Amino acid sequence: MLIAGNWKMNTDLPRGVELAKAIADGIDDADSAFDAIDFAVCPPFVHLQAVGEVLEDHPVAVGAQDVHSEDEGAYTSDVSAPMLTSVGCTHVIIGHSERRQYYGETDGEVNQKALQAHRHDLVPIICVGETIDQRRSGDAKSVVHAQLEGALDGLEVTAADDLIIAYEPVWAIGTGESATPEQAQDMHAVIREDLADRYGADVASDIELLYGGSMKPHNAADLLSQPDVTGGLIGSASLEAESFLGIAEEAAAVLEG
Ligand code: PEP
Repeated sequence: MLIAGNWKMNTDLPRGVELAKAIADGIDDADSAFDAIDFAVCPPFVHLQAVGEVLEDHPVAVGAQDVHSEDEGAYTSDVSAPMLTSVGCTHVIIGHSERRQYYGETDGEVNQKALQAHRHDLVPIICVGETIDQRRSGDAKSVVHAQLEGALDGLEVTAADDLIIAYEPVWAIGTGESATPEQAQDMHAVIREDLADRYGADVASDIELLYGGSMKPHNAADLLSQPDVTGGLIGSASLEAESFLGIAEEAAAVLEG
């Protein structure tokens, strides 16, 4: 079970460090309660090193929110995979719907970034998800299927921890209206099947499939108790340690049964 926070373009450096410390303290205070939970936080690029230092002795991976597909070059403002690994980053979110929506990121670009992440031993957290119009017109599954096809082209995955997929219906992100547990499970089952076709059932069965879209402490247990929902990618609720760890508490309770 992986509980991952996407801080997006929030927090300045002192606030980001404070948030990381509060998460670290909360994990320490919980003793063994979170032993079965994996954590990741994805702060803004400029916080990565400092947040990594705060979390160094804690079971919290540090990820970036994007990566360029080239190692280096004249790409003003972009950040490369070698830069990310050099500050201790182990994960990277790729193809978040806000990147697709505001920057026109295509499945082809998502694919190039995912391949680049693998070349540098970064675990890609690939985001897929339909818009409300696509859901209303009955196209949600075919849209997500096509996004996966595009993103995973040529991406070799031989172990489950080489890849993480986040299903994030666009209409649920930042809206307070989460998918229902049934909607989430339905789509996660489709994703799991696609991964099994591509990588084999053994590997696919252990790939983390995160749900993202208005996950909060109050709805986390219902979402996380679905068989194919093995974690959450959390936006606004990851900006307070209390709500982020509150979701982790729900996750731990689900695992305990
Ligand atoms: C996200 O953007 O990855 C996300 C899930 O946001 P929120 O939790 O705020 O809906």
